Amino acid sequence: MPNNALFYLTSNDMPLVSHADGIYIWDTTGRRYIDGCSGAITCNIGHNHPTVKRAMVEQLDKVAFSYRTQFESQVALDLANKMVDLTDADLQKVFFVGSGSEAVESAIKLAIQYFVAEGQPERSKFVSLRPSYHGSTMGALGLTGYEPLEAPYRSITIGSVKVPSPDLYRYREASVEEHIAAVLRQTEIAILAAGAETIAAIVLEPVGGASTGGRMVTRTYMEGMRALCDRYGCLLIMDEVLSGMGRTGAWFAYQHYGVAPDILALAKGLGSGYYPIAAMMAGKELVDAVGRSGGFMHGHTYAGNPLACATGLAVIDVMSSEKLVSNAAEQGAYLRRQLEQLAEKYDCIGNVRGIGLLQGVELVQDKVSKQPFPAAFNAFDRLTALAKGRGLLIYPRRCLNGLEGDHVLITPPLTVTASDIDDIIALFDGSLADFEQVAREQAA
Ligand code: PMP
Repeated sequence: MPNNALFYLTSNDMPLVSHADGIYIWDTTGRRYIDGCSGAITCNIGHNHPTVKRAMVEQLDKVAFSYRTQFESQVALDLANKMVDLTDADLQKVFFVGSGSEAVESAIKLAIQYFVAEGQPERSKFVSLRPSYHGSTMGALGLTGYEPLEAPYRSITIGSVKVPSPDLYRYREASVEEHIAAVLRQTEIAILAAGAETIAAIVLEPVGGASTGGRMVTRTYMEGMRALCDRYGCLLIMDEVLSGMGRTGAWFAYQHYGVAPDILALAKGLGSGYYPIAAMMAGKELVDAVGRSGGFMHGHTYAGNPLACATGLAVIDVMSSEKLVSNAAEQGAYLRRQLEQLAEKYDCIGNVRGIGLLQGVELVQDKVSKQPFPAAFNAFDRLTALAKGRGLLIYPRRCLNGLEGDHVLITPPLTVTASDIDDIIALFDGSLADFEQVAREQAA
């Protein structure tokens, strides 16, 4: 028997996971780690939650799987209705899928089918931001603005029209307002150059996740993007696969800006890691138009199965009964203050950004010039490994374009207390000290 048949196992010293509880996760040697990034910003309610486990077992005892063209389930209806109530916007219809990439694919296809139904089949292009991350399947990858992932597949993905993402840390204009105005202008120019009548939708993350290390935009920017969609007759799709479901201290990140999307993609926090479930939400008018034209030609086998939906429902119940959205806002503000203190202490922190419990830290070699570490130094990997060595999990991303630094995300479960954050910060503090020591040794 082979001893390493797992395709994606990249390192032989990867620990084997044993069990987890709350914000902690243990490996089979008994080492404990604080899950400072909720896995992949997924396990929002923490690990081993009894309410969710109970709901899942209860559902398993009834029926785990039924197929959506043969049966609807009460749990799917209940979950969809609950989500519509939470969004507080013109998003009355929910389409369940199994992953973030599938939610984005669904959004792409719904937009295309909508314009076909509306007699505008020429609207087949999408505008998205660089940097951005929208998923690993071909449609979502075509939207993604991140070279290392896109480049090998360019010949077979349909690339979107890429426009710059606002960068509130490295902008060159005299003020944030001027920067936003410039980015909006560039976006409009790109839309016109591509042919405004050929654009189906603008796609964006209201708060950047893995791709940008928690980059925020501004209300003016969001209003400007909405205005461009309205002016040129295209849709606004928001990818809240990572930022949605309470992570940022609001149920949805778009609520911070007061600008709602026409289509919303959700995933990670919806099932909180207990079972794969994701969703696309859209307005009734849009869905009805597609329905009149023959129905949405899209779907996945596992979509909206009862076990997935029972999990999602229980997760939302926990989020509500434990007031985890307001906890994310409160503890997120505390985490932010602590990270900003570390930024004063350590030269390698160029920028702290994000909102709620979605906080990103950008690493730089020179704080004044904002010069990134050389790519070969693997800053993202080193800091993450040093933190893991101390028992803290953080989420890394390398930036390869040489224009920005590597970054890490600190995104603990939304159940964290102030004292949990103190523990995270103490471990991160030590990891940064180790990191700067290594950086000094390398430079010498
Ligand atoms: N969009 C965003 C914003 C994401 O962060 C991710 C996952 N990191 C995806 C889409 C893809 O989700 P999944 O990995 O579940 O396919």
